[in-house]
Amino acid sequence: DKVLEIKNLNMTYHSLDGETKALDNISLDIYRGEIVVLVGPSGCGKSTLLSIIAGLLTPSSGNIIVNKSNDSINDTGYMFQKDNLFEWRTIRDNTLIGLEIQNKLTEKRKEFVENLLDTYGLSDFKDSYPSQLSGGMRQRAALIRTLATKPDFLLLDEPFSALDYQTRLVISDEIGQILKKEGKTALMVTHDIAEAMFT
Ligand code: ADP
Ligand code: ADP
Repeated sequence: DKVLEIKNLNMTYHSLDGETKALDNISLDIYRGEIVVLVGPSGCGKSTLLSIIAGLLTPSSGNIIVNKSNDSINDTGYMFQKDNLFEWRTIRDNTLIGLEIQNKLTEKRKEFVENLLDTYGLSDFKDSYPSQLSGGMRQRAALIRTLATKPDFLLLDEPFSALDYQTRLVISDEIGQILKKEGKTALMVTHDIAEAMFT
């Protein structure tokens, strides 16, 4: 069961400085339950690839099929370098925000999120504000916010790079475990080999 199918993808940017070939004939398949990590130096095209998968950017040529069985972009969840938590909302209210936006905030789903917060070490912080949490805990809250909408497929863009080195090692391992435990399919891009060690 393929969640993502990319065939012969090319992306060339045109600007006043001339042309930049950001992606050169990329092909990639990701199957359900896989956690795939792409590692490469800054400027190698990682953000370009994620933007195309997310539907934010149109490739110059090539094919891309996301979640063929149900091609709703709502089934894709994102986690970025910055956790983008709202400082004026509690952790609980932050983790419910995606559900509010998608109009899926049922009692049952609230309970699902409460359980995620309990399972992943945030039970004592539900009523706290983001500034009261460590960087690692904030990233965990951001992941729970993403998991709350039950996405089939997660895109992670250098999700740990804002953390200090020790926290990065701990939290990258934790988040790898969470994704596996929840049976998620994920594509992570990073320039940092230490972030890639989480599987
Ligand atoms: P990464 O995420 O791996 O750092 P990017 O996808 O951001 O790589 O960039 C790949 C290449 O495309 C780089 O050479 C970058 O300078 C170039 N690039 C990215 N975005 C643009 C843009 N909007 N216009 C022109 N060139 C771009
Ligand atoms: P992580 O690496 O997951 O971010 P830390 O090493 O920062 O976790 O924190 C370990 C534990 O210390 C947390 O699970 C939490 O119980 C406690 N803790 C961390 N930050 C705070 C805080 N700002 N206030 C109270 N307890 C905290």
